[in-house]
Amino acid sequence: MSGSNPRDLATAAVRALAPYVPGKPIDELERELGISNIVKLASNENPLGPSPAARRAMQEALEDAWLYPDGSGHLLKEALARHLGVAAQGITLGNGSNDVLVLLAEAFLTPHDEAVYSQHCFAVYPIAVQATGARGIAVPALPTNSPMPLGHDLDAMRRAITPRTRLVFIANPNNPTGTWADAGALERFVESVPRTALVVLDEAYFEYARAEGGQDGIEWLGRFPHLVIARTFSKVYGLAGLRVGYAVSDPGVADVLNRVRQPFNVNLVALAGATAALTDAAHVERGVELARDGREQLRDGLMALRVHTLPSIANFVLAHVGPRAPAVYEAMLRRGVIVRPVGNYGLREHLRITVGTAEQNARCIEAMRDSLIEQRR
Ligand code: PMP
Repeated sequence: MSGSNPRDLATAAVRALAPYVPGKPIDELERELGISNIVKLASNENPLGPSPAARRAMQEALEDAWLYPDGSGHLLKEALARHLGVAAQGITLGNGSNDVLVLLAEAFLTPHDEAVYSQHCFAVYPIAVQATGARGIAVPALPTNSPMPLGHDLDAMRRAITPRTRLVFIANPNNPTGTWADAGALERFVESVPRTALVVLDEAYFEYARAEGGQDGIEWLGRFPHLVIARTFSKVYGLAGLRVGYAVSDPGVADVLNRVRQPFNVNLVALAGATAALTDAAHVERGVELARDGREQLRDGLMALRVHTLPSIANFVLAHVGPRAPAVYEAMLRRGVIVRPVGNYGLREHLRITVGTAEQNARCIEAMRDSLIEQRR
């Protein structure tokens, strides 16, 4: 250690981390290019925003912002317990579901342990795992010619589990691929995982997936005490900026997570907004329908440009743009459309596109068309 650079004082595991790369914010692009009317389809947000019920509750809660929030999140947990048909003791609230994923890594991993996830999985899994010094094992994804191209290879993931494995991360559906696991295969997988490891089933896009017949992992919790479900208010509930997510698990796992959790990890406005959001099922339904229609619009519009999209049951699609994907991304930015490059996911030829409103999707398709033409010149 040289001693001159304070960065060198960080743990070796942390120094080796590649930071998370978020979608480009709208105001950043506005500042850079001096343009307005920007469409951001880069972070899988719901363009409908929060439900009116959540907006009202958040406004009222602002008056109490001088008070600490309820550290136990009692009202939100009770509302979630009723909504999900589970015991409140099995619920852990997080500052986004990202927080819950990090808590799991902190609570269950040491540098002697291993965690298993898939190639092209959500980027927070390797970051959360590696920050603890544990060994992260990225299992190669399914090949592009399989029925679920680039999806999780559950058989290979099962084979990667050793007596040292403490956590197995499965995103269903996965971000950034949009791919999902067959319910029967997933159930057999969870059953086959030794009880010396927890299976973290990340259902951030659950509401979209369920509408297409996707599995509800919570149904399995009674049978599998080593199963943890992670969900969020950031996607279909339109509350990404609030940062609220949760885990549902065996109460024993919740008890452990509660020990490492910050006492006030979910803020007062977020607790109120999320609790109210649960009362507005019609808003969720509208978000789900918008995503379904928009996926088709994007798929068909891009197909006409000879850009193929992967199957998706989430509110985004992964488009195979080809070797010029990074240049096309830049060219789309100049046209005021922000999508998500996924080179850091090992997908250099793809761009991930969040489903927006019909108008936003049309702008995106048009920007893609013009950018492809520009790049072919
Ligand atoms: N899991 C997956 C699969 C995601 O795509 C995301 C958001 N990009 C998250 C978890 C985390 O979301 P949040 O922290 O906003 O709940």
